[in-house]
Amino acid sequence: MSSGNSRREDGVRHRLWENGVIQVLVPMAPPLLQMNGYVLRDEDGGLTVVDPGPRSRESEKVWEEVLRELGASWKAVKQIVVTHHHPDHYGLAGWLQEHSGCRVWMSKRAHAEAELMWGPASVMESALPAFFARHGMPPQQTAELKEHQAGIWPAISPQPEVSHVESARSFAMGGREWLPVETGGHAAGHLSFFHPGSGQLLCGDAVLPQISPNVSLLPGSDPEPLRTFMDGLSRLRELPARTAFPGHREPFGYFADRIDRLLLHHEERLDAAESLLADGPRSGYEVCGELFRGRITGIHQLRFAMSEALAHLVELERRGRAFLEEKNGEIRFFRIDGC
Ligand SMILES: [Zn+2]
Ligand SMILES: [Zn+2]
Repeated sequence: MSSGNSRREDGVRHRLWENGVIQVLVPMAPPLLQMNGYVLRDEDGGLTVVDPGPRSRESEKVWEEVLRELGASWKAVKQIVVTHHHPDHYGLAGWLQEHSGCRVWMSKRAHAEAELMWGPASVMESALPAFFARHGMPPQQTAELKEHQAGIWPAISPQPEVSHVESARSFAMGGREWLPVETGGHAAGHLSFFHPGSGQLLCGDAVLPQISPNVSLLPGSDPEPLRTFMDGLSRLRELPARTAFPGHREPFGYFADRIDRLLLHHEERLDAAESLLADGPRSGYEVCGELFRGRITGIHQLRFAMSEALAHLVELERRGRAFLEEKNGEIRFFRIDGC
């Protein structure tokens, strides 16, 4: 078993873990800098790629080199599995499908989310800035956001033809049967894959070590993302996972403890969001600015911070600790006294 290091070492493109799980270190933009793809090999040499990464010339090169290092051709790639629709996991799937000719698998819900974000009928490029404007984001930043959204296309093109994983049935990868576990909140329809015999779990971004996975309220998507996320964590916690293989950072063994920490973190953030409403109603943008004070350095982070602050605010509303009111096209959140 290889030992973990959160930084990409020079020249290291993949690492071999127990039972032949191959971790592929794929470069991506700051702040994360790196994501993990995984490769599982069948006895006959056929490969399953889990989460190929975002598309860029650097990430393409990593896959070309890793396949060469594994002594495999494009045609050896028999299937591509995508845990969720985010560009840093899904982006290269179409490119890899073009080269290998194989199927790309996602959950039906994750595929619908990819369509919502980047399908031919998607209106997200204008819907998201408009949604954030209603929650108090100033025009300069909504304009920047629009530009940022448009800049995502190169990282996700071409888009793959997708087949749907059935959550109720086991899924074969690397000569083993894996149990798909569908959760949401970070990304609707997110799939993790658990192998009961070994306790190995490919968990994408559902649970990450060190990083708290972003939880997003987005227009047209799950209206209760934090509730969905926390429910998913509770279900994942039931799995007797020995080694979790995450989408970022290194594989880890303290899966249940990590989930407990994440659940606590969100309860604390709910308390913090609620206390920000103590002196009167606030917009989502104002709450976001306070909750993430000093940690937002650009539009990319602002987008995730804003959608996460809103996820917390609507959860407070769902729990009866806050309510919202829309006046003149602007939404504000109020604390419910006595709670
Ligand atoms: Zn993600
Ligand atoms: Zn990710």
